[in-house]
Amino acid sequence: MYFQDRYLTEEQRMMRDTSRQYVDHVVIPFIRQDRTREWRMDPMERLAPRILEQADAAGLRSLGVPERFGGVALDPSTQSQTLAVIATELARGDSGLADKLVQNWKISVLIAQFASEELQRHWFTRYMAEPQFLMAHCLTEPRGASDRWLPYNVPEVNMDTKAVLDGDHWVINGRKQFISNGYDASLYVVYANTDDSVGMQQGTSSFLVPRETPGLEVTGCNETIGGRFMNNGEIVFEDCRVPIDHLLVHNDALGKAGIYFRPGKVLVAAKSLGIGLGAYEETVTFVHERVQGGKVLIKHQAVALRIADMATRLEAVAALLRHAALAVDEQSSDADALCNMVKVFASREIVQVCQHAMELHGGYGAMLEVGIEKYMRDALINLHSDGTSDVSNFKIVRAMFPETAGRYAGSE
Ligand SMILES: Cc1cc2nc3c(=O)[nH]c(=O)nc-3n(C[C@H](O)[C@H](O)[C@H](O)COP(=O)(O)OP(=O)(O)OC[C@H]3O[C@@H](n4cnc5c(N)ncnc54)[C@H](O)[C@@H]3O)c2cc1C
Repeated sequence: MYFQDRYLTEEQRMMRDTSRQYVDHVVIPFIRQDRTREWRMDPMERLAPRILEQADAAGLRSLGVPERFGGVALDPSTQSQTLAVIATELARGDSGLADKLVQNWKISVLIAQFASEELQRHWFTRYMAEPQFLMAHCLTEPRGASDRWLPYNVPEVNMDTKAVLDGDHWVINGRKQFISNGYDASLYVVYANTDDSVGMQQGTSSFLVPRETPGLEVTGCNETIGGRFMNNGEIVFEDCRVPIDHLLVHNDALGKAGIYFRPGKVLVAAKSLGIGLGAYEETVTFVHERVQGGKVLIKHQAVALRIADMATRLEAVAALLRHAALAVDEQSSDADALCNMVKVFASREIVQVCQHAMELHGGYGAMLEVGIEKYMRDALINLHSDGTSDVSNFKIVRAMFPETAGRYAGSE
């Protein structure tokens, strides 16, 4: 591979190598072995249990879990950058698997920050003991998600999911949709309205809800165009009672969730980059082997130009990704704009990279058993992950011009 790693710290190099070894020896052979698996098999059967077991053995599941509970501690001053390096490698193997693990990392960070010591001990102990244990983050509802990302901060568009205090329990009622890991998670972070007199930024709380809680029902698994090794689910809460200490953040949950919203956008970009690298690597091999017009494809100038374009887009995404992840780690004033910029830029550029890959593969690009079409499907998912491109662009402008553009999405 051409791409250099001159910017990596020792820790990042080590984590990159660990992830790469896992992806090259475990994930890629598994994906290639049977490409019909993601379409043919029941969601719960698609990913063989050994894939998460081996991720666990490599220390790739427990990022974000505090060291005292057995987690892998990353240098906090470069954490987003390091997670981006790891997520890129994982998505090079399979982006659905990367989604699964990234959700676990982000929610581990949130629990470590806001849950009581007793709850942390309980849930991290279980998490560390069960390699198939997944976590999910429930924000989106049928009435929409962009309003929540912007956010459109007026009481009329508050979350329909409500939580009401009843004695020593919170009672949750509502519905969440499109939730990553939602179908097979063991533990949910649920956002619900707890004060209808104010906008959602002042009146939304977050709760830890174990799957087995009476009143929580997983009603379905969404079949998606890509990222199909991550099971996206629908969840209904009907008089779902959680103990009072399962409240993570009262009323300011959207503000406090910033600890994973910003790195989350960097990680969407990292996953896009990983998909693009996978498509690029396979295409480079193909154009060095496939002969048309009496010579290998790379010797045809039109083909060579497309390879240059793919490589340039990948380098540009990688450079902006490093820059944005650094800003997030430094909590600098441009971090908000940069993490949205890289999410939008990476998702669009990588779709273009995948289009080149498909076109350069000719008819093979469309064949399920070749695997190039999978990169395109996986790349398309990231156009709206963690906010659509348009909504993310609003957030960029709002971050740059808070006094003018910053005010159109809520009350003046
Ligand atoms: C595979 C997958 C995984 C996901 N994982 C999760 C998860 O783990 N947790 C979770 O909570 N959610 C998750 N989501 C939901 C995701 O965040 C939302 O789908 C996304 O934010 C868009 O929201 P929406 O689908 O409600 O579209 P809408 O908000 O209805 O948007 C529809 C269109 O309208 C545009 N639009 C909306 N508002 C405005 C405006 N004010 N001005 C101009 N244009 C506007 C949007 O840009 C978009 O083009 C996931 C979705 C998918 C498909």
